[in-house]
Amino acid sequence: MIDNTQFNNKKVAYHTLGCKLNFAETSAIGKQLSDEGFIKVKAGEQADICIINTCSVTDTADHKCRQAINRLNRIHPNAIMVVTGCYAQLKPNEIAAIQGVDLVLGANEKFNILSYLNKLDTEKNGEIHRDEILKVTDFKPSCSRDDRTRYFLKVQDGCDYFCTYCTIPLARGRSRNASIAETVAMAQQAIDDGAKEIVLSGVNTGDFGKSTGENFFDLVKALDALPNEIRFRISSIEPNLLTDELIDFVAHSQHFMPHFHIPLQSGSNEVLKLMKRRYTTEFFAEKINTIKKMIPHAFIGVDVIVGVKGETNELFENALDFIKTLDICQLHVFSYSERAGTKMLEIEHTVSTPERKRRSEVLHTVSDKMTYAFYETQIGKTVQVLWESRHNGENMVGFTENYIRAELPFDKNKVNTLQSVVLGDWNNEMSALKANIQ
Ligand code: SF4
Repeated sequence: MIDNTQFNNKKVAYHTLGCKLNFAETSAIGKQLSDEGFIKVKAGEQADICIINTCSVTDTADHKCRQAINRLNRIHPNAIMVVTGCYAQLKPNEIAAIQGVDLVLGANEKFNILSYLNKLDTEKNGEIHRDEILKVTDFKPSCSRDDRTRYFLKVQDGCDYFCTYCTIPLARGRSRNASIAETVAMAQQAIDDGAKEIVLSGVNTGDFGKSTGENFFDLVKALDALPNEIRFRISSIEPNLLTDELIDFVAHSQHFMPHFHIPLQSGSNEVLKLMKRRYTTEFFAEKINTIKKMIPHAFIGVDVIVGVKGETNELFENALDFIKTLDICQLHVFSYSERAGTKMLEIEHTVSTPERKRRSEVLHTVSDKMTYAFYETQIGKTVQVLWESRHNGENMVGFTENYIRAELPFDKNKVNTLQSVVLGDWNNEMSALKANIQ
């Protein structure tokens, strides 16, 4: 047993895998523990407790989690090992069986780590605490700063959509959120802490408001009314929830950036049906046209999954033709991974692993061409760049309002400041544009 008096100065190592939501949640856990006297371990120190927040979006994600647990176990052999997150919710027994794991906490239990640590019997291995996910209704708003400059504000959790390939509703439960007032207060706290840019994050962000009788558009308007110098981005929004009203609002907002990240998942209507997505390719194309009409310089990133069950060669080729017609800037390409408990497993047709890889490569090439073509149209424009702490010793990186990656010789005084620059030509690696100070 650990007793409360031993918490003071206990050293904790945190390790987070997966999405920005996980990072925001780890940060909230870290805040809870530091309020109780725990200290974040420094490089080279031995931790008393390791907390690993896992992801389970693909088999590779599961594999990386197991690797991280084993690695931390080797580095901190005497630490209490706590594993939480999506993998812990979905496969607690698998994790509990890993050598060195002391405590496995599900989605609802991760914000009560302290009480479980209090009661932990360290003589036993792999203690599991995990509620049935569909009963989980708690929501903890949380916010984290990444290792660059941006803050990620978790505004929503869970999903009610149950797309046939996705385990997220099984790992994170039903859609839920805090109130607009609480969410705005959290954003204000981040701004007071020095945030210049906040990304609104969620599992199905546009579904915000379901559990409080509010809606995402009202949240956007409330955040936009904050008086501070602040930029907001919407991390990702389902096409059916991205209303024309919201696009129009972003087009005229000083705070919400002209940047959209929209999951398409497939450019074939047949595959969209197999996935149980809630729109057609025609609807999606119309959405893109609306954005481009209202905000011609908007950056639009689009998610696509290749090689799902039922995606024949012909359907992939159709999807590819459709995607090439879209006036977008980047594709985020994912290869399908079979997940236990999903409806898609009932479909007979399977795409081989090498073919999934080939399709992914084809789309990556299409994406690169789209990004370069978009960047070319922006050369010579005067833009505001928020400079990040990231640099390669020589150059620092920042992003424009419309998410163009820009570079300038490193100057630490510029970190987390906005600067007006003119976009010049390509950098050496062709992945960013060089900025010229006005
Ligand atoms: S919308 Fe579909 S893909 Fe996205 S989290 Fe929900 S179920 Fe998963």
